[in-house]
Formats: sequence, structure tokens, C-alpha cells
Amino acid sequence: MGLRIIIFGPPGSGKGTRARLIGRLLKIPVITTGDMLRDEVSRGTEIGLKAKEYMDRGELVPDELVIGLVEERLRRPDCSGGFILDGFPRNLNQAEALDRILGEMGVKLDLVLNVVVDPEIVVERLSLRRWCPKCGAIYNLKYDPPKVDEICDECGARLIQRSDDREEVVRRRLRVYEEQTRPILQLYLERGLVREMRGDIPIEEIPREVEEVLGPYLKETGVKAPKSGI
Ligand code: AMP
Repeated sequence: MGLRIIIFGPPGSGKGTRARLIGRLLKIPVITTGDMLRDEVSRGTEIGLKAKEYMDRGELVPDELVIGLVEERLRRPDCSGGFILDGFPRNLNQAEALDRILGEMGVKLDLVLNVVVDPEIVVERLSLRRWCPKCGAIYNLKYDPPKVDEICDECGARLIQRSDDREEVVRRRLRVYEEQTRPILQLYLERGLVREMRGDIPIEEIPREVEEVLGPYLKETGVKAPKSGI
């Protein structure tokens, strides 16, 4: 049986990098609401057109747009063996919606991984972040650059800087996180689901940290612990 995981933390904490690593390791899908919304925006769908103005300002997209997308995704067959949610839930209403959806599916959460990082590190890190609009891979020009300048190692697409990674938008996103997102951690602490990860370690140490935190769960799923190169 796979694991059902939320990866939690402020923007720029390294959630996405960890989520992708864990997803590859456990062979479970990573559901990244930010990527799903950016995809809606780039395809010019009705949801994308509505979401764009909120995203550009660094505010949360209205719940009714996001919850529907996540619900539809979670109900697809590939999520039956576990999943990682990256970027959802982001407020109390979304957390309650997730409880309802999982309840209806007859499953429950196993783990909430809380990535802890100093907000000032986030501002610097996001200004150096580059993103692959095709496959979602994430790079940092200083700490984790692509092998070829501006080109995604994984799929060869041209990397971009997200418009909401500009400093003033990042500060707004951090405020939104503090006011609306961080409080829901309490819910999961009360259920004993939270494990901490340090968001300030060098990128090459992340696999070991993942191994430490997931170790007991990996035994349950029969997956071998990660080695370098994942
Ligand atoms: P992220 O890539 O997770 O930083 O998300 C980028 C932007 O997408 C956020 O600043 C929000 O505008 C929007 N977004 C992503 N996930 C959610 C969510 N669960 N609820 C509302 N808005 C979201």
C-alpha cells in the first residue's frame, strides 16, 4: 500500500524539490496545484483566466476553482496507490474539503511533511529559481543549476523565471502563507501526522534527509531506501 502525503511549507522552502524526489522514490504521483493552475493559465481555460489575476498578485486562487481540480485529480486511478499533495491544502476550508474527499474515497492521510525555513532565505532563493514550464522541474541558478544554461536537464525545454518569484510578490506570498496556510498545520499536529524537514540544507543532502524521515514508512511499503542519484 502506498503513502498519502502532504508536503507543507512556505513558498521557496524546497517543497517541490522534495515532493518530486519522494514521488520518484515511492512511485506515486505528485499533485502540485501551482503547476496545475499554471497549466490552466497557459491553456487559457476558464479556470486559468479566473486564476491568473490572483496568482499574479501572490494571493490564493478562490477555493471553488482549486478544490474541484484537486478532487478530480485525486479520484483518478493512479492515486489509488498513494500520492503527494504539494501546495494543497492552503487554508482551513481546503483542509476540510480534503478531509471530505478522502473520507468519500475511504482513505486517510499518512503523513504531513513540514519543511521549515527562514523567510529571508526564501526571498533570495526564489529570485534565483528557474522553472521548466513543460515538465515542472525546478532549478536554482546558484545551488542547483541546469547542466546547460537555461535548458531543462529532464526534458530539454527552455527554463523560465516565474513572474510571481519577483521580490514584492514573494513577500505577499509569504504573508498569505503566515496568515492562511501555516495555521492549518495545527490540525495535523493534533492528529500526530507531522514530521519536520529542514529547508535550509544543501541540495545534495536532501536524499539523506528524505531517507531519515521516510525510513519507517519505506519499510512498510517495501521500498528500498534512496541512494544518491535519485
Ligand atoms: P505555488 O507554485 O505553490 O507557489 O503556487 C503559485 C500560486 O498558485 C499561488 O501563489 C496561488 O496564487 C496559486 N495556488 C497554488 N495552490 C493553491 C491553492 N491550494 N489554493 C489557492 N491558490 C493556490
